[in-house]
This record gives sequence, structure tokens and C-alpha cells, in this order.
Amino acid sequence: MDRITPEHRSWTMSRVRSTDTGPERVVRSLLHGLGFRFRLDTGKGLPGTPDIVLPAIRTTVFVHGCFWHRHRGCSLATTPKTRAEFWQSKFERNRTRDRRVVRRLKRDGWHVMIVWGCELRDRDALLARLARLRSPRTRSSVCR
Ligand SMILES: [Zn+2]
Repeated sequence: MDRITPEHRSWTMSRVRSTDTGPERVVRSLLHGLGFRFRLDTGKGLPGTPDIVLPAIRTTVFVHGCFWHRHRGCSLATTPKTRAEFWQSKFERNRTRDRRVVRRLKRDGWHVMIVWGCELRDRDALLARLARLRSPRTRSSVCR
């Protein structure tokens, strides 16, 4: 079933980070529609290079692929049957890095919102969730 080699996946993943991918564009566009303004390059100097930075509300947004970042309970977070050890250690490294990044950002006073790839399937629900960033009162419910 899983015919993409790990090497190819790694290559794909490294490419994903350096381009303005579909999901990130969608989230940016939804945020823009909500009235948020941001610069595209602001994530570069921050831990984990957040996909979107909203300086006005000191919030960083990561758009995480469910597979790579192991969205808990998500059907997209499958585990390939072959080379189980390779995948397990890779996933564990990703998880550890993600946790560290969130910790560092929070320590520096940033709110951190994770948008999961599967959330892009329901734009209305995602828009409603993103809208909660607008008020300090609701922001904490969608941020780490
Ligand atoms: Zn998911």
C-alpha cells in the first residue's frame, strides 16, 4: 500500500518546508479574510520556523501534516507496515522536535496554534476555529 520510499518522503518533506504549500496558503487566506495581517518571512528567526506569524497578537501558527507530525487519533496518521523501526524513530524525533519548539515559543511569550492538515477538509469549521484567535478570551482555547 505504501509505495513511496522513505527516502522519497524525506525529500518531499524537505521541499514542503521551503515552499508556500497549498494548506499554508489556505490558512493564510482564511486569516487574511478575518482581518489578520502578517508578513510571510517573519517565521524565519523563530524556533521551528512557524508557517505564519501574527505579531499583533503574538501568535505563531503551524500547519502540520497529520502523517509527519502524528496527529493523535487521526486517520491520516498511518504507520507504514514496512521498516517499522525506521518510521518509529523518525516519528519520535518529529514529536520531540515539535514539543521542544512549542516550549521555546511559549517561553518567549508566543501563543502557538497548530492547524492540522485534515482540518482543511472543513473550511467552515477551520474558519470558526481561526476566528477564536481574535479575542484574548477565546485565543487560549485554540492555542497551546
Ligand atoms: Zn489529522
